[in-house]
Amino acid sequence: MTDTYAIHPATKIVRGPKRATYDRATIHGIIDDAMICHVATVLDGQAVMIPTAHWRVGEAVYIHGASKNRVLAAIANGAAACLCFTHLDGLVMARSAFHHSANYRSVILYGKAHILDDPADKMAHSQYFIDKIAPGRWDKIRQPNAQELKATLFLGFDLKEVSAKIRSGDPVDDDADYGWPVWTGVLPCRMVWDDPVNDSRIEPGF
Ligand SMILES: Cc1cc2nc3c(=O)[nH]c(=O)nc-3n(C[C@H](O)[C@H](O)[C@H](O)COP(=O)(O)OP(=O)(O)OC[C@H]3O[C@@H](n4cnc5c(N)ncnc54)[C@H](O)[C@@H]3O)c2cc1C
Repeated sequence: MTDTYAIHPATKIVRGPKRATYDRATIHGIIDDAMICHVATVLDGQAVMIPTAHWRVGEAVYIHGASKNRVLAAIANGAAACLCFTHLDGLVMARSAFHHSANYRSVILYGKAHILDDPADKMAHSQYFIDKIAPGRWDKIRQPNAQELKATLFLGFDLKEVSAKIRSGDPVDDDADYGWPVWTGVLPCRMVWDDPVNDSRIEPGF
C-alpha cells in the first residue's frame, strides 16, 4: 500500500492546489479527529445533505442510521455519495476584507456505499463506533439487541476517491496593504469538552 491516495478526476484539487494533500496518514487523522461528517447525495433531482456521526476502520469510513433515513436509504440503494469532514482551526484576520480566511483541515470522499448485512458485522461496527466516541464504554453498556441491529442501516465507503486540503498560518495580504493600521493574525479555535453533566436519572453511586 502506498503512502498516498491516487488522484482521481473528481478529487484533483484545482483551486488552492498548494493546500492539497493525498497523504494517507494525514487523511486518516483528519477523519478520525472529526466527530461528525456531512453526507451528501442527490435525491429525486435535489441535492440533499445530512450531518452524521462516523468512524473509520482501516481503509473505509462507516456511518449508520435508521433504516428509514431518507439520505442513507438512497445511498444504500446505489446513489453516489460525497462525505465531507471539516475542522475549523482558526479565523484568519487580514488587512483587507478580501483576504480574510480560515485555517482548516478538511477531507472530501466520493463513493458508493457497501451495506453491512451480517448482524455480526453490525455488532462489531457498533463497538467500533462506541470505542471511537468513548473508549472502554462498550463493555459497560447494554449492547444492541437483534431488533436494534435490524432497524439500523450500516454503510461503508472505501477510501479511494479522497482528498484533503489544509490551510495554516498567517493571513496573506496584497503587498500594497501591508502597513494598513489594523490588527492582523489568527484567532485559533478548537473543539473542547466541558465537564460532564449528570443525567437527571443517573443511577445511584455514579
Ligand atoms: C472551514 C473552511 C472554510 C472555507 N471557506 C471558504 C470560503 O469562504 N470561500 C471559498 O471559496 N472557499 C472556502 N473554503 C475552501 C473550499 O472548501 C474549497 O476548497 C474552495 O472553495 C474551492 O472549491 P472548488 O469547488 O473550486 O474546488 P476544486 O479545487 O475545483 O475541487 C476539486 C476537488 O478538490 C477536492 N477539494 C476541494 N476542496 C476541498 C476541501 N476543502 N477539502 C478536501 N478536498 C477538497 C474535492 O475532491 C473536489 O471535488 C473553505 C474550506 C474550509 C474547510
